[in-house]
Amino acid sequence: MKKTEIEFNNIRIDIYSLNTIVVGSGAAGFNAADRLYNFGQQDIAIVTEGINMGTSRNTGSDKQTYYKLTLAGGEPDSVLEMAKTLYDGGSMDGDIALVEAALSAQSFYHLVDIGVPFPHNSFGEYVGYKTDHDPRQRATSAGPLTSKFMTEKLQKQVEQKGIEIFAGYQVIGILTDQNEEKAIGLLALNLNHLEDINKRYALFNCTNIIYATGGPAGMYATSVYPGSQTGASGLAFEAGVMGKNLTESQYGIASIKFRWNLSGTYQQVLPRYISTDQEGNDEQEFLEEYFEDPGTMLDAVFLKGYQWPFDPKKVNNFGSSLIDILVYNETVIKGRRVWLDFTTNPSWASNEEGQLDFSLVNEETYQYLESSNAIFGTPIDRLAQMNQPAIDLYLDNGIDINKEYLEIAVCAQHNNGGLEGNHWWESNLHNFFPVGEVNGSHGVYRPGGSALNSGQVGSTRAAQYIAAVYQQEPLKIADFIQRSTEQVEDKIDLGESFAQSIENDSTVLDIRAEIGERMSKNGAHIRSLDSAKQAATAAKEDLTSLATRTKLSSIKELPLAFHNYDMLITQYVYLSAIQNYIEEGGKSRGSYLVYDQAGLLPIDNFVEEFRFSLDKENFADKIQRVIYQDGQCSFKWDQVKEIPNDDNWFENVWNKYMKGEIIK
Ligand SMILES: Cc1cc2nc3c(=O)[nH]c(=O)nc-3n(C[C@H](O)[C@H](O)[C@H](O)COP(=O)(O)OP(=O)(O)OC[C@H]3O[C@@H](n4cnc5c(N)ncnc54)[C@H](O)[C@@H]3O)c2cc1C
Repeated sequence: MKKTEIEFNNIRIDIYSLNTIVVGSGAAGFNAADRLYNFGQQDIAIVTEGINMGTSRNTGSDKQTYYKLTLAGGEPDSVLEMAKTLYDGGSMDGDIALVEAALSAQSFYHLVDIGVPFPHNSFGEYVGYKTDHDPRQRATSAGPLTSKFMTEKLQKQVEQKGIEIFAGYQVIGILTDQNEEKAIGLLALNLNHLEDINKRYALFNCTNIIYATGGPAGMYATSVYPGSQTGASGLAFEAGVMGKNLTESQYGIASIKFRWNLSGTYQQVLPRYISTDQEGNDEQEFLEEYFEDPGTMLDAVFLKGYQWPFDPKKVNNFGSSLIDILVYNETVIKGRRVWLDFTTNPSWASNEEGQLDFSLVNEETYQYLESSNAIFGTPIDRLAQMNQPAIDLYLDNGIDINKEYLEIAVCAQHNNGGLEGNHWWESNLHNFFPVGEVNGSHGVYRPGGSALNSGQVGSTRAAQYIAAVYQQEPLKIADFIQRSTEQVEDKIDLGESFAQSIENDSTVLDIRAEIGERMSKNGAHIRSLDSAKQAATAAKEDLTSLATRTKLSSIKELPLAFHNYDMLITQYVYLSAIQNYIEEGGKSRGSYLVYDQAGLLPIDNFVEEFRFSLDKENFADKIQRVIYQDGQCSFKWDQVKEIPNDDNWFENVWNKYMKGEIIK
């Protein structure tokens, strides 16, 4: 890596020149850097807003899942079968599915080798369990904090190799060579020196960018992504990177004070769902109003335990996803707050002494509770019996569910779609590789745990490709400056207009709140054509007026202003994608409900907004792609690629491999 400096309009800026920059320090980013180094490309560095930020390091769930090929026992499994499982999720390209299956064992064993504590039996078999959308038992877990362990162990590898980490650098622009349609560098804010205009900005002149910036979490108000994850997809759209399957995200019930998925035992112990007004008064057990009898209500709550994401296929006939709708109805439509109470049994299903009548539940629920020795007491008694760590986790985060209500909402959790990448994870913008959650490699449905697998596989593939094909030196400084000047000037002008708006009253957090509320109301699990259209228009207007509306209370808020900029582009593109999907005739699927005037209400006389019909897989063999250019989105719909049926005759593959014809 070489360092020089230049002056742009009297502002001094450091320029770092090197082969590859990895943006992001989550599980995908660290793996990309580690792999690049091992594959022989060592002129690299990581740029991150903060080493400890992002989803991988700061999230988890009951049993955070890693999905991989079967590696234990006698049940047959194969790369092709696993690829089919991924592909069958719908709207997923077959070549990506095949690569994710083919590299899953390699990626998993790499994590094992560097010390991630995945459990194995005494013969060394990595036994698995069945997760959602999984026909086998391919899932494994290192406990509630699998992705945190992965990130920590991968970071250690990176540090041992002495790979440079630019910590406290927020990327604010992706620089491109517009003639050659390739990435040539990055502009970043140096968060460590915002006060000094001559250190405020930094430039990276690089041959390749591996973009591991995670999901677009910041644009939602109700979210179970960690607070430190914002995302940076908007900057990539701005640079001309194509989006794919942007309509497909995953939502589910989570606690909002301490952000955590309320799956598994939290639901299986049958807590009481209550709503209150904004002040916490006027308590109501609102589920009672809508279920036909208390047993059906308890069974739906129980099922929510392992049917965690909202799924429109599980709404009708009092299915578990009706609960997500009822929670949304209380919080968004009625403007109330919703809580889980573990201290008391649901009164509709209890006698006057507050004892739950277990004879009301169906056989599945009863047997599960009986096998867990939990046919007694209150929800918290049952939770203590079945999963004491689930109680301790909240205690460790300042919430005592032994006595307090737990506030919940239906939250954004994962983005299945994202930026386009080919089967080497390179985007349409050459030399730019989106990996991890920012890459939209998933389809409509995906097995639980496949996000972490995809992040490891994609970052490995990008590193392999760069090490083999893109070893070139970065541009000569003069060349780099000539090609990027206009883009750098535009961004610095925006930055300095934000910086000059310092007043006592700041608007950045208000703007951020508006962005979040707009998305959670119009672009999350409950959607309609009208609301998507209106919200997309509002996002675009806000983007246009952002520079004039933004007021900072100090220069420390400059990064937040750039986050708002990124989120507004992201939001506009995502909402436009939703609008386009519905205009094309798309109905409810995946993890969202689309209002359909010709559809049915989930319960008689219910709120009109929830009238819907299911997509009859009309779109499962198609992928929506979008380009954002000159402030407009243009869409195309492609047939999914079939799973490749390659020539797998060993001698032929070997020959090609020796001639260097595999990676190209
Ligand atoms: C509650 C919850 C439970 C989950 N459970 C599972 C599960 O069981 N199984 C599973 O497979 N997946 C699960 N996921 C999803 C999975 O955890 C994530 O998809 C994965 O961790 C994302 O990793 P990543 O490396 O792509 O991004 P992240 O870990 O989010 O890292 C992104 C990095 O980019 C940095 N960054 C972002 N923007 C910029 C910028 N402009 N400049 C510089 N740096 C930037 C961030 O600071 C961060 O370091 C879960 C997610 C949540 C929220």
